[in-house]
Amino acid sequence: MKKYRFKGILQNEGWIENATISVDDAGLISSISSESQNVEQVAGYALPGFQNAHSHAFQYAMAGIAERHQAGKEADDFWSWREAMYQLALTMSPDDLEAVATMLYAEMARHGYTQVAEFHYLHHDIDGKPYANLAEHGERLVSAAQKAGIKITLVPMFYQRGGFGLDPQPRQRRFISKTIEDYDKLLTASKQATSHYSGANLGYGVHSLRAATPDDFVRLLEEKRTIPFHIHIAEQLKEIEDSISYLKKRPVQWLLDNVNIDDNCHLVHATHLIEEEIKGIANSGANVVLCPSTEGNLGDGIFPLKQFQSLGGKWSIGTDSHIGLNPLEELRILDYGQRLTSHNRNTFTDKNENDSGTYAIKQSQITGRKAMGNTNIKYFAVGQPFDAVVYDANTALLAACSIDNLLSTIVYASDSTWVLGTMVDGKWVVKDQNHSQKEKITLKFKETIQKLKVR
Ligand SMILES: [Zn+2]
Repeated sequence: MKKYRFKGILQNEGWIENATISVDDAGLISSISSESQNVEQVAGYALPGFQNAHSHAFQYAMAGIAERHQAGKEADDFWSWREAMYQLALTMSPDDLEAVATMLYAEMARHGYTQVAEFHYLHHDIDGKPYANLAEHGERLVSAAQKAGIKITLVPMFYQRGGFGLDPQPRQRRFISKTIEDYDKLLTASKQATSHYSGANLGYGVHSLRAATPDDFVRLLEEKRTIPFHIHIAEQLKEIEDSISYLKKRPVQWLLDNVNIDDNCHLVHATHLIEEEIKGIANSGANVVLCPSTEGNLGDGIFPLKQFQSLGGKWSIGTDSHIGLNPLEELRILDYGQRLTSHNRNTFTDKNENDSGTYAIKQSQITGRKAMGNTNIKYFAVGQPFDAVVYDANTALLAACSIDNLLSTIVYASDSTWVLGTMVDGKWVVKDQNHSQKEKITLKFKETIQKLKVR
């Protein structure tokens, strides 16, 4: 049993000041009280740990190195970036993947994420043959999360086709499941991989509409599963054009017309939508996962958030290619994109909430948890795991802040040095900016990157 007394903890209804959270040996909250005896004093404000609803861990190895643009070349866009990403994907061994993912997840923890949904499609060996353990890489990702001390929802992807009507290309050979039966075997092995760590669970999905035949796509979705479903959709304009030419419909329109999309579905990006599609997603109860730093970096476009949320649409955030790892930066880029295009400031509000910081935390937390298969909506409650990010109450702006303005000050005016620490299952994983395993993890990461020669 451990007791932490915070300057404040955030609850759905607002802050509780000078609150003590007791945690049992399993990391679950056993009480929330005002007791002050035998407690660890924490000079900070605790928010529920952030949920990173979209990650491709291997891409962290190339974060920030695709920014040299050839002179005279008209467009350096998503598709040229993707070629560089494919090259990286072809080089990594299971050990390499584990080293890169461990570093990434440790950095996520340092920024306040306590769980990640790993949208995983790098399944096979360098020649494209399945590993003896079909979920070799899935197991390495779970192990990376365990070493870094964060929780993981492993989401192995069905990736069958090279594009609309196209066979898989040789450079996609590590991703491919030929049939749903092959994919089911991969899912079963992945389920086994998650059983080695109590902080791991499983989702499923299809890489994108272009990555499966329409028939198999429908079949996979018809076999009702109770775990979260993830898919990339409508990220790039070319993808919309290709979908119209092959399926005779825009991607989201095709989804809405052909499969039963519901609250269990997490549509990643959904950048390019027309009005019927915005309404269709909101009415279906499906969620969108927005990755603003990556979407900005890749020049994807701006999601029509204001219209979507006016219809009750639900969203979470993810860091995708990991060009940015600060959850508050994701929220700010998302909001500022809306402000810049609408010329309004109240873009993060709805009829029930007029404080933008409160609204942003509520959406990203509750929908983010759902993307992990976690339907708890209480920020901190007895019986739930104690996963939290703690912001330093002694930073000048917070020390001088009224309780009413605390949350938006953190959301809009903080930088990552404000993170006093991150706790998972009631234990400090990061304290005073230092991950408990930082040196070991960083050394292994550096050795791996030197060997891969990607940076
Ligand atoms: Zn992605």
